[in-house]
Amino acid sequence: MVETIMENLYRIEVPLPNSPLKELNSYVIKGDKRNLVIDTGFNRETCFKAMTEGLSFLNIDLSKTDFFITHMHADHAGLVARLATDTSTIYFSKIDSRVYRSEDNWRLMLDYAGINGFPAGELADALKNHPGLKYSPRDLPEFTLVHDGDVITVGDFRLQCLWTPGHTQGHICLFDEGKRLLFSGDHVLYDITPHIESWAYQINSLRDYMTSLDRVYDLPVDLVLPGHRSLFSDLKGRIDELKEHHRHRAGEVLTVMDGRAMAAYEIAAGMTWDIDCEQWEDFPIAQKWFATGETIAHLRYLESEGKINRNAEGAVVTFSAL
Ligand SMILES: [Zn+2]
Repeated sequence: MVETIMENLYRIEVPLPNSPLKELNSYVIKGDKRNLVIDTGFNRETCFKAMTEGLSFLNIDLSKTDFFITHMHADHAGLVARLATDTSTIYFSKIDSRVYRSEDNWRLMLDYAGINGFPAGELADALKNHPGLKYSPRDLPEFTLVHDGDVITVGDFRLQCLWTPGHTQGHICLFDEGKRLLFSGDHVLYDITPHIESWAYQINSLRDYMTSLDRVYDLPVDLVLPGHRSLFSDLKGRIDELKEHHRHRAGEVLTVMDGRAMAAYEIAAGMTWDIDCEQWEDFPIAQKWFATGETIAHLRYLESEGKINRNAEGAVVTFSAL
């Protein structure tokens, strides 16, 4: 499905089969010399078909088209290598590209999941079923690395890169001040809550995320164009809701712990999740993985706020309320 948002700006709805996100928004900006595609979909045939059909419906010449990837997740970056041509520039965050290219990134994540109580027997399965591994580009293309404050011009669109770490460490939003638009990637979504996870002790993703929400709170925008689902206009109102959501979830973590010392995996199993499963045991392995990663992010945040203690003496790290 292709939708016209305004003159020279379009949205291609890319289905994401078996993903609770349901679809990805790929935005297409037509320029006088070059076009820009923002985010692309998983590297799998359903997404490729939707993208190529949408682009040809819009008469987009790929040899005159560049790409901007808001962050490293496979539903955004997955197809870029297949769609880009020899003449395409692919803009990508320097920080996410470092994680992408790191050879031991997955191993470090698995180790960290293990010390946070993820059952050893389920780790291999979790890795095998992770969409990030299944639907990423096979060979990484050459990226043009962008930094906070860089400006990309397409036709009369002037897109400023805003570094907004949290959802990923290198996440970048694009802000067009003249047109009062924010391409928010997965930083601010309207119908669903962006997933915040942490797979390394050094990274306090939830604190980064809260700071990044503040960073975009006062932007003068009339339209927010997120990576998934509905476009919206009330940026401040949505950010207030997201902050409230995380305060509520932090409270739920403390309630589940109920004074006991527990590992992140056990705490995740006791939390409520927006998923069609009666009990934790029925969760698909990928959802257990995401839930555990999000719980770790909340625990790390609560620890940095001085609300809980982290006990790292044993093979499995546990947390206890102060
Ligand atoms: Zn994402």
